[in-house]
Amino acid sequence: MSTLVNYDAQRVLVTGGAGFLGSHLCERLLKEGNEVICLDNFFTGRRQTIAHLLSNPSFELLRHDVTFPLFVEVDQIYNLACPASPIHYQHDPVQTTKTSVHGAINMLGLAKRLNAKIMQASTSEVYGDPEVHPQREDYHGSVNPIGLRSCYDEGKRCAETLFFDYHRQHGLDIKVARIFNTYGPNMHPNDGRVVSNFIIQALQNKDITIYGDGTQTRSFCYVSDLIEGFICLMNSHDGFKGPVNLGNGSEFQIGELAEMVIDMTNSKSKITHRDLPKDDPKQRCPDITLAKKELGWQPTMPLEKGLKRTITYFKSLLEHHGADAISQGN
Ligand code: NAD
Ligand code: UDP
Repeated sequence: MSTLVNYDAQRVLVTGGAGFLGSHLCERLLKEGNEVICLDNFFTGRRQTIAHLLSNPSFELLRHDVTFPLFVEVDQIYNLACPASPIHYQHDPVQTTKTSVHGAINMLGLAKRLNAKIMQASTSEVYGDPEVHPQREDYHGSVNPIGLRSCYDEGKRCAETLFFDYHRQHGLDIKVARIFNTYGPNMHPNDGRVVSNFIIQALQNKDITIYGDGTQTRSFCYVSDLIEGFICLMNSHDGFKGPVNLGNGSEFQIGELAEMVIDMTNSKSKITHRDLPKDDPKQRCPDITLAKKELGWQPTMPLEKGLKRTITYFKSLLEHHGADAISQGN
């Protein structure tokens, strides 16, 4: 069970609120008695992730694109709007960069007018294909500026720059989270990320597609742990801005994850190998010393337990929508 943070109720804007992380964040903020404005252009977000919140009088849904200015009155802003999975952010790479950069400018401008506190959902991708392992916040990264992942990586890096310049130039109260791979219920079933792909393939007894030889590593953070980290960061002491890594410190090879998912679903799936996408990081694992020290935060959900909950979620999606609906992203 997560602990409820004791702070006064606020009016909170969550951009990207209908997405995977945003939907969990909206729910958590409402549970704590806040008023929530959920903003989304529904590029990868889905109505059903927030459908259960629509009848709550403290919840408001706004269809809006963060690349355009916004005028609302709020105390806090969580800026999550941006497609997060490689196939989605590479679908319209120019729009991805615009979302990160213009979106950050618009949300920072709003925060400046309102004197609101603002948190940026940055990413471990700012470290690129890292030469330092595990990654600490003072590592500046190894990012290809012209590759297929650059629209996302460089967009997020530029957004961090904007956050820190708005702080230095305008005294804005900023918080920057560098999020590492997170998984759990409400993930888009068709976004191609490794956890959702493997679970859906295994539940359908289809081949499990490992890209490359499967020795590349990732660390997997369960969504409730990450949301707890967001809340701790937003409510951290005034002087603390980050950037701070939020992720799980346990590292797994992609091949190991495939075996775990096959075992846990009793699947007949076989493993197949596909080409490793260009610029796919070979290893990734957060050093979370700073988060422990400054936020008193660390993940508590073991991978096996989190996977079990995620498998239950996708099993129910398959039962209710069937395989075709899943492949169309219901
Ligand atoms: P997601 O794709 O499920 O959610 C992103 C949301 O933003 C969607 O609802 C989408 O419709 C919305 N959106 C996209 N462009 C928009 C725009 N121009 N205007 C308004 N809304 C827009 O992804 P997620 O996993 O929930 O990620 C949320 C944030 O966290 C992203 O900023 C992502 O970069 C960051 N992040 C996530 C992870 C992860 O593992 N999930 C890791 C690192 C960083
Ligand atoms: N991956 C894989 N099979 C899949 C999807 C992803 O082997 O069906 C690999 C991918 O190449 C990467 C890792 O799993 O090495 C994590 O991929 P994901 O897209 O989830 O996130 P990333 O960390 O690369 O942004």
